[in-house]
Parts: sequence; C-alpha cells; structure tokens
Amino acid sequence: MKGYSLLKRMPGITYQLIRDPAGCFRFTYISASVEALLGLQVEDLLNDANDFLTAIHPDDYAEVMNGKQLSAEQHRDWHHPFRFIHKSGQVLWLDAHERGEQQKDGTLIWTGYLVEATERKRLENELIASEHRFRTLIEEANDIIFTVNINGIIGYLSPNWKQHVGYEIDESIDQSFEEIVHPDDVPSCNAFIHSTINGGPPVKDIEFRIRHANGEWLWFTCRASCIHDNQDEHPHLLGIAREITEQRQQREKMARMARQDMLTNLPNRAYFDELFERSLLLCTQQQRALAVLFVDLDKFKPVNDTYGHSVGDQLLIHVARRIKSCLRDTDVACRTGGDEFLILANDLADVEAAQRVARNIADRLREELAKPFSIEQLTLTISASVGIAIYPAHARQAGDILRCADRAMYQAKIDGRNCVRIATCKND
Ligand code: GH3
Ligand code: MG
Repeated sequence: MKGYSLLKRMPGITYQLIRDPAGCFRFTYISASVEALLGLQVEDLLNDANDFLTAIHPDDYAEVMNGKQLSAEQHRDWHHPFRFIHKSGQVLWLDAHERGEQQKDGTLIWTGYLVEATERKRLENELIASEHRFRTLIEEANDIIFTVNINGIIGYLSPNWKQHVGYEIDESIDQSFEEIVHPDDVPSCNAFIHSTINGGPPVKDIEFRIRHANGEWLWFTCRASCIHDNQDEHPHLLGIAREITEQRQQREKMARMARQDMLTNLPNRAYFDELFERSLLLCTQQQRALAVLFVDLDKFKPVNDTYGHSVGDQLLIHVARRIKSCLRDTDVACRTGGDEFLILANDLADVEAAQRVARNIADRLREELAKPFSIEQLTLTISASVGIAIYPAHARQAGDILRCADRAMYQAKIDGRNCVRIATCKND
C-alpha cells in the first residue's frame, strides 16, 4: 500500500504544517478527515493555515504556539492537548502529537497527527472534580479519616489529626495504633481490624480511647470498611473516627446516677439488689455464705425536726462515710432511702464465718456512730439499730433474706434501739 493511501486510512487527522521564513503558516498535507472533524476545507488549509490557527481557543493559543516554536527549534517531539472552537461554536479538545524541525532557511516544519479527546477530557475533568470534592470532604470533615493495615500500622491520617489529638501526622504515620490507644482497648481494636480486613463476623462500630499529646484520654467511636490496593494484595482498614469524650462522660455519669443514691453517693437500692443477686448466685454455686445487715438510724426524725432537713441530710452523708469505713473492700453498702442502709458482706466461707463478720461490722459500726458528728457548728450524736440475716442459715432467696434482716432490725428497735439482733427466721 502506498504511503499516501495509508495516511488517508489513519484515524484522526494527519498533517504537516510549515511556517515559511516570511512567517506565513500553511499545511503541506492534511487528512481529508479534517473536514468532518473540524469543519475546515483541505484546499483552504493548504493555502493558509489561519482558519485552523485562529480557531484554537484563546486561552490555549499562546501555549500552543510557544510550544510549537520550541519543538521546532529543539527538533523534538511534542504532545499537547488544547481546545479548538468548531465553526458550530462547540469547543472540542484535541490531542496533538508532532515533531518539530527547523530548516536552514528558517522554515519551521511540524509533522504529526491530531485526535479528538473531548470525551476523555470530560471524564478527566469529572475525575479531578470528584477527587477534589472527596479531598475537600476529608480535609473539612470533623471526623478523623485513617487507614491501618492488618498489623495495626497507620498508613494515612486526615489533616485534622493534629487538631484532635495533638500529634503531628508525620510522627504518627507508620506507627502502630497500639502506641496511642488505651491498653485496655487494644484487644478489641485488634479484633475489629482483623474482622474488618479478613471479613470476619461484622463489628458495626467500636469505641476506644486515644491518648492526646497532653496526656488526656479521649474517647472515639469508629466505623470502618476494608479497602484493597490495586493488586488486591494489601487490604487496609479505612476508618472514620469521631470524638465522643463528652458524650461518653455524660453516658457514664447517667449510668452512675442510675446506680447511685444522690445524697450519699452510696449505691442505691436498685443497684444493691443487682449486686446482691449476683453475689447470691456465686455463693450458691460455690457453697459459700453471705450476711446482710439492715441498719436504721435511731430517732433520726427528731434531728430533722430540731435542726432542719439540711442538717439531717449532712448527718446522713457523714453516717454513710462512717458506714463505708467499717467495711471490707468486697462488702457493699447502700442507702435504701430515709435513714435506712443495707450492708452486704459476701463470699464468706460458711454460716459461722458470716455471723462473725457481720457481728464485727455491726460492732464497729456502732462504735463509729457513737462518736459525735460536727455539722454546721453543731455536735450531734446518733445510734443505729441493726438486724442481721445470713444466707443460707435464715433464707435462700434475696427477698426472704432482706425480710429476715428487716425483722431482726425491728426486733432491735423493740429491744430499746442501739443494738444488734440476728434473724430468727427458719430456712425450710
Ligand atoms: P426510729 O428510731 O424508729 O427509726 O425513728 P426515726 O426518727 O429514725 O424515724 P424513721 O426511721 O421511722 O423515719 C426516718 C425519717 O427520716 C423520716 C423522714 O423524716 C426522714 N427522712 C427521710 N428521707 C430523708 C432525707 O432524704 N433527708 C432527711 N434529712 N430526712 C429524711
Ligand atoms: Mg430511723
């Protein structure tokens, strides 16, 4: 096949453009496809290339012409995308690949081909725009975006990293997450990383603590998915972490409040019942014993009536502290309301040990309460009546044990107050 007919069959537009020493541009050859693609006539362009050159988009014109000049002076290949305004007004992207040369008489020659790249350019621009949108999203988001690999090594951190945790991004990248995550949270984070990357049982989100550069522990909640690199060889976890320290503190405060007596900060009745049931189950399983002490202050009402409710409150707070000071670490005291307290001495070897420990606590308590209280420049004294019930000697069910202790306390009241009585219930 002759060279010429081969050229005619080439896709795009093949051309040779020259600039003569007088500075006039014309094509010495241009494919007929220029008519269909750019709406220009071959005949016209062979005489004068101006129809083509003046249709180059004004914003690209200088760059195209300067590039051409350089490629001719340096005799090198040149590739340049540029915009071309079609007669219809439509803007086309063209991709030109050409080689420039300069002849001795000053004539410049460019030989090459043009292809239309409008669709490719549109897709490129769309990609750039969407990358830009994604980057803006990451950079402006309040959440921290990060990646870690299966070994827990941090690969990426969003720019707001320092703002949240005080470390430079560079000092955290390539480090193990274990360096900054609370030791208690490391096992659950590792399990989360493994299940996310290896597709294990789905873990929806996870909460963990990160140590801020100033030493403070901050709580985060994190969602994640698995991403693969191009070769699918090194999957990573892509995570979005949001700081929830304040919510977490609020949540913990609410949980504490739900379990606490607001006046004395002792556990409240509901929480005591929960702990009591738990201890009872353990004692049953391990054939151990426990003791419950029912404590009611004697003649507390007159304190309120004489000095006012607020002095009564202060006295309850002081009594609660003294009760706590009489207990072992494993014992639990709660205020059930009014001037009533319950004490649980759990995990005792047998009934005898339980009686001994309960007696001891009650005696120490009576001793402690016998010391005067200084409240608002007043010196107050108070005593308590105490009823003791033992599991399994007096009853086996939580409610029954408490009833036995209550009855024993009532007996102490009858017997003149400021004394201790052991339950007389029969466990059948
Ligand atoms: P007794 O020796 O028989 O136990 O008589 P008491 O005066 O101690 O009276 P009782 O135990 O029957 O009643 C407790 C009183 O405690 C009733 C109420 O006036 C008072 N009280 C209940 N709750 C509070 C509280 O939160 N603060 C204060 N200051 N007083 C309370
Ligand atoms: Mg009382």
